[in-house]
Amino acid sequence: MPEQITVAFLGLGHMGGPMAVNLVRAGYTVAGFDVVPAALEAAQTHGVPTAASPLDAIGGADVVLTMFPSGQHVLDAYGGAEGQPGLLAEAKPGTMFLDCSTINVDEAREASALAIAAGHRAVDAPVSGGVVGAEAGTLTFMVGGEAADFEAVRPLLEVMGKRVVHCGGHGGGQAAKICNNLILGVSMIAVSEAFVLGEKLGLTHQALFDVASNASGQCWALTTNCPVPGPVPTSPANRDYQPGFAGALMAKDLRLALNALESTGVAARLGPLASEIYDTFAAEGGAGRDFSGIITDIRDKSQR
Ligand code: NAD
Repeated sequence: MPEQITVAFLGLGHMGGPMAVNLVRAGYTVAGFDVVPAALEAAQTHGVPTAASPLDAIGGADVVLTMFPSGQHVLDAYGGAEGQPGLLAEAKPGTMFLDCSTINVDEAREASALAIAAGHRAVDAPVSGGVVGAEAGTLTFMVGGEAADFEAVRPLLEVMGKRVVHCGGHGGGQAAKICNNLILGVSMIAVSEAFVLGEKLGLTHQALFDVASNASGQCWALTTNCPVPGPVPTSPANRDYQPGFAGALMAKDLRLALNALESTGVAARLGPLASEIYDTFAAEGGAGRDFSGIITDIRDKSQR
């Protein structure tokens, strides 16, 4: 029964806020906390009970769910930083540490190992689906951890998402997330270059779309998030590239992919280049635009 499970929900930002709301609506007992008072107040306004401190939030919690910006935030919170006691030392034995942040695979494995060494259980469960999916409860969760722990958190994740996939041992969720986004980042650049080339060669957007979407060039970047306005009316290109999936987040995820490519020694060439391309895009005004806005960069920088 959800009401018998107490969730300390730490990190009530763009994603965590609405995810916590969905847990409350489903009957879970939630104690929310965020270091930013405005995030805490927004969550309260939407019906999430909040705590005065992280330690207050985790008192008696069965699950400690974190939704933080980076792996360093997770490791600092778990282990303690700046004289603050860590969550792992303060939580009751056997607490489930469920991290839904998008972080490095190595950091996820380290966080899980620390939690287990402290007598707890741990799962990494990054998400895709964005703020819209967080609000609607339609996120996809990619889960890394022991099979029994996956089954233990599955009902809770199913409240916040429509698809929950066990991707293997610790770090497996993060691995699946960055591998997927590596495909996405590279394929969006390829689709965008093809549309700009088509423009130069006198093809209409619709003609190229009609061919490629029914041929071997078919992919999500083309058929769902099409970077030119027109062929897919719901794509961000039709609303001046309002995200959608922001350039800053794609740049972040590709840096995580790049770290993993380097640490595993994969002979990748497109991944590092895509990471550099989105870093530049984000730094030059694309951070808050949909990542498909990369096509305007390619067009602007094209000669003749
Ligand atoms: P956000 O910056 O809006 O929220 C993160 C929150 O964590 C902030 O409110 C911050 O104050 C809080 N925080 C940081 N350290 C804390 C601590 N020690 N205790 C309590 N609160 C703390 O970020 P977001 O957009 O909600 O994203 C969260 C995570 O989800 C990121 O890892 C991101 O990469 C990932 N993600 C985001 C999206 C998206 O569309 N926004 C999509 C998929 C995945």
